[in-house]
Amino acid sequence: MSLKKIAVLPGDGIGPEIVAEAVKLLECLQQDFGFGMEIESAALGGAGYDQSGDPLPQETLALCQQADAVLLGAVGGPQYDTLERDMRPERGLLRIRTELELFSNLRPAMLYPQLASASSLKDEIVAGLDIMIVRELTGGIYFGQPRGIRELENGERQGFNTLVYAEHEVDRIARSAFDIAMLRNKKLCSVDKANVLEVSELWREVVIKVSADYPEVELSHMYVDNASMQLVRAPKQFDVMVTTNMFGDILSDTAAMLTGSIGMLPSASLDSAGKGMYEPIHGSAPDIVGKSMANPLATILSVAMMLRYSLGEAELANKIDLAVGNVLNQGFRTADIADGGNSVSTVAMGDAVVAAMRALSS
Ligand code: NAD
Repeated sequence: MSLKKIAVLPGDGIGPEIVAEAVKLLECLQQDFGFGMEIESAALGGAGYDQSGDPLPQETLALCQQADAVLLGAVGGPQYDTLERDMRPERGLLRIRTELELFSNLRPAMLYPQLASASSLKDEIVAGLDIMIVRELTGGIYFGQPRGIRELENGERQGFNTLVYAEHEVDRIARSAFDIAMLRNKKLCSVDKANVLEVSELWREVVIKVSADYPEVELSHMYVDNASMQLVRAPKQFDVMVTTNMFGDILSDTAAMLTGSIGMLPSASLDSAGKGMYEPIHGSAPDIVGKSMANPLATILSVAMMLRYSLGEAELANKIDLAVGNVLNQGFRTADIADGGNSVSTVAMGDAVVAAMRALSS
């Protein structure tokens, strides 16, 4: 059996603390579930800059290019904020996404029923929420040309950006979303603004064309203004949503906040072959570094996504999701989700997940 190569990039701040717990879980999969893997670590972000003067060192990029999947902690920290822009940790992250051509960004918003009170919405609206937002990540208005600020004849300045999508860009993000819908409840909602924008008209046309290859998936369309309303009115109507870079940027943050717990949410960015980089949605949390307060569950759930979407191990992924649910049922909480009650350390939470996972191996 060939070993899966996993590149591990702990990054900065709480990154190394939370990634250590995810690696502990991977080692449990290797020992107790026969999962064949090889792990190699490298520096990214501020750690890369400290090590070799570049937030994306050449050897880190090479390692990630050769790997089957990449697991990332988080990058950034106040000590790097005064560096010139190209040397800042976040630039390393943007560059690695571009270099690996990760155009499909998967942002789940799921809320374990045990944590429903963390949301600002009523329990019955969000308990058990499980949405996947698929956001196009490398095109659209954030990259379209021409862009800039120009001076008009009357001397007034005018800012402008261009919203463009070529057919192949819509086709590949649509396929990525349909593939994910096939692994879930086979319901896909495409979000656009086809009543106003020509680019959305083309988007919708291409999504409908791709749907012919996925007859089992129930496809619907929604205008973005309505989608933002529906996300806070009745979010459980959605399974998978697919949308453009900018609409996805906004909707995925709304969806994440429905859950109220930033330390619980994983994410993935995939290329056209399904290779991906997996990371928690939160940052490096400089305010809690070294205090053993960081919640490792977003990173642990990122491992589950990695197994499901890049490594063809959906069963193991389901087991991790179940183990996390069991740990929450047992009452384990890090400070961010403890609601003022007793909390456990980062390491104790990681140990609890490994123990819950082992209990599922027999
Ligand atoms: P943040 O997500 O790091 O922190 C926001 C708040 O959430 C903080 O109070 C933090 O303590 C808390 N928090 C975050 N993750 C947590 C966890 N796992 N457990 C418990 N509490 C957690 O956002 P920020 O403070 O705006 O940014 C801090 C640094 O992270 C900045 O340098 C920023 O650029 C960087 N950042 C990196 C990424 C990334 O690596 N993908 C994403 C966002 C921000």
